[in-house]
Amino acid sequence: MVGCAVRPTGLKPLSLRVRIGTAEAVPFHNIYETSSNWARPQLPTRGQLIHESFRAFTLEELCFSEAAERLGLDNTPSAAIIANLGRVAEVMEAIRARLGDKAIVVHSGYRSVEVNRAVGGVGASAHCLGLACDFASPAFGTPVEVALAIVRSGIEYDQLILEYGWVHVGVASPGMLSRREVLTKRSPQAAYEWGIRAGS
Ligand SMILES: [Zn+2]
Repeated sequence: MVGCAVRPTGLKPLSLRVRIGTAEAVPFHNIYETSSNWARPQLPTRGQLIHESFRAFTLEELCFSEAAERLGLDNTPSAAIIANLGRVAEVMEAIRARLGDKAIVVHSGYRSVEVNRAVGGVGASAHCLGLACDFASPAFGTPVEVALAIVRSGIEYDQLILEYGWVHVGVASPGMLSRREVLTKRSPQAAYEWGIRAGS
């Protein structure tokens, strides 16, 4: 994939869709191979724990950008961004469970500053920090129904925005409290409104 080389140096993603707790589950230290454990499997180190997050939501799909591919822009996340995306993957996993394990379509996760600019994202977008995900779940319902289900759950999100065709979920930076701020944005030009506004 041009512009979305998400593989960290020295790490080879393997079966990222393996779900822990199922018959097919494998120890998560096998999710990534490194040159050091290629021949000698070892217990995961603290630094590897973030990869446990990428179970149903892979690093690849949280970094994929059609605009980056089309325009040849770099969308490679740093190690810090990958750690943040791990937090997003955990929240998304909780959301998927809340939606009855219905399929979720990720529209956009991480966006580098230049990719964010290319798609018209806001300047200080949480997407640029790997702390947000835009998604929909037509199998569950409309974006309004998805947003309401999340608002009525105990899921820890920092910001939830009902947008025009999808739901944006932002996750708090490490060490920050989740604000559980809920907004609606009816169109690219519209101002943010508080709460979930049906009919948007
Ligand atoms: Zn977003």
